[in-house]
Amino acid sequence: MFIDSHTHLDIDRFDEDREEVVERAYSKDVRYILNIGTDVESSRKSLGIARDHDFIFSAVGVHPHDAVSYNDDIKKSLSNLLKDEKAVAIGEIGLDYYRDYSPRDVQKKVFADQLLMARDTGLPVVIHVRDAWEDVEEVIDSTTNGDVKGVFHCYSGDLETALRLIKKGFYISFGGNITFKNYKNVEMLNEIQIEKMLIETDCPYLTPEPFRGKRNEPGYVPLVAQRLADIKQLSVEDIGRITAFNANRLFGIAPETEEVKIVYKIRDSLYVNPTIRCTADCVFCARLIDPVVKGHNLNILEKDEPTAEEAIRLIGDPLQYKEVVFCGYGEPTLRLDFIKTVGAWLKSKGSIVRLNTNGHGNLIYGRNIAPELVGIIDEISISLNTHSASHYEKIMRTVYDFDTFDPMLDFIRKCLAADIKVTITIVDIPGVDVESCSNIARELGAEFKVRTFNEVG
Ligand code: SF4
Ligand SMILES: [Zn+2]
Ligand SMILES: [Zn+2]
Repeated sequence: MFIDSHTHLDIDRFDEDREEVVERAYSKDVRYILNIGTDVESSRKSLGIARDHDFIFSAVGVHPHDAVSYNDDIKKSLSNLLKDEKAVAIGEIGLDYYRDYSPRDVQKKVFADQLLMARDTGLPVVIHVRDAWEDVEEVIDSTTNGDVKGVFHCYSGDLETALRLIKKGFYISFGGNITFKNYKNVEMLNEIQIEKMLIETDCPYLTPEPFRGKRNEPGYVPLVAQRLADIKQLSVEDIGRITAFNANRLFGIAPETEEVKIVYKIRDSLYVNPTIRCTADCVFCARLIDPVVKGHNLNILEKDEPTAEEAIRLIGDPLQYKEVVFCGYGEPTLRLDFIKTVGAWLKSKGSIVRLNTNGHGNLIYGRNIAPELVGIIDEISISLNTHSASHYEKIMRTVYDFDTFDPMLDFIRKCLAADIKVTITIVDIPGVDVESCSNIARELGAEFKVRTFNEVG
C-alpha cells in the first residue's frame, strides 16, 4: 500500500483525464491520496475531488506564492472549507524565497496566520519551503508552542535542519526529485529515519525517473518508494507500508494501518508476534509507549495473543520467506509451547526458524529449555545489552529481584551446548561498551551483532 501525500489533481492539466489518472493510481496500490490546495479556489476544487472519491482527502490553504492575495475574506473562506470532513490538513503554506512571488514579510505573516489556524483547529500543516529555512523555523517557533504538527513537503533543506524539525515533531516528505541522477543528498536520505518520512509525487510536477519530463501522476509514487527502498535496503513494500503508517499518524486517513499484527513481513523475512509481555522494561524499549516496528503495530493484548493454529493459518506458505522469526515487542519464550508447536510445524515445512529473545527462558521456567528448542529453532538472537551485571540491571529493569546477567549468560552457554547457533546482540545506545560485549561473545563462541536502536531484522 502507498499513500501519495501531496498531489495537485485539481489543476487543469488533469481536466481531460482526471478519473483515469486516479484509477491508474489505485491500480498501482496507491490506496490514499492527499490533494493539496494552493488558494481558496483550488482548495474548493480539491475538496470536490475528495468528496467524489473515498480514498482522496484534501488540504486547504494558501501557498506562499499567493500570500499577497490573503485577507480576512480569504481567511473566512478557508475556515468554512476546513469544516468539510474531507479537509484533513492546512496547506500548502510556508515560505518561498526562491521565486519570491509575494513579498517576504507578507509571506511570513500569512504563514503565521495559517499556523495559528492549525493550532486552533488541531489540524496538521503541509509546509512548502524554498530557500527560507531560517525564517520558516523562526516563524514556527514564534507562533506555536510545539503544538502544531505537520510535514515539510518535497524537502530541500539539509540534514541538520531535518533532524531538528523531526525533534520538533514534524515529518519530512520526499518526491520524484530523489530519483534524478543529479540528486545530491542520498546520504541525507540514509540518515533520516524512515519512521519520520512521507512520500509524495507533487504531481503534475517533479516527475520521477524514468518518466522525467512527462506529466507526473500519483501512480508514480511507488517509484519514489523504490528509490528509498534501494537507499535504505528495505523492500518497496516496506517503504510503502511505513510511509502509509506515518501518513495516517499525521492525517488520520488510513486507520487500517494501525491494525495489530500477529505475523508481519519486513524485507523478505516473516516475523511472528507471540506476545507483548516481557520480563524486562528496557530503557530504550518502546514496548509500553508505542510498540511499532517498521510500520507494523505489535500492540497485542494478552487476551488476543494468537494460538498456534491461528499463527500457522496466518503464516500460510512459510517457504515464500527467507526465514520465519519469533519476535514481537515482548519476550517470545513466555509462550514456549506456542513457539514449540509453530516452530515444529515450520521445520516440518523446511523453513529456517529464528528466535529473538532476552535470554530469560531458563529463569521463566526454572529449567533448561535449550534442549526443547533443538530441531525447532535454527538460530537464536539473544540481547546481551551490555558487558556488566550492574549495567545490565540498569538497562533492563527486569521483574526479578536478583541479578539476571549471569543466568542470561548461562542460557547462551546452554543453547551453544545444545548446538543451536547463537547471535549475541546489543543496541548501540550511549554507555554500552561495544568492545567488551564483543569479547564476551567471542569467549562464549557466539556470533556478535550491533543493532541500531529500534531495528528489527
Ligand atoms: S527485553 Fe526486549 S521486549 Fe523486553 S523490554 Fe527489553 S527490549 Fe523490550
Ligand atoms: Zn510545494
Ligand atoms: Zn505542492
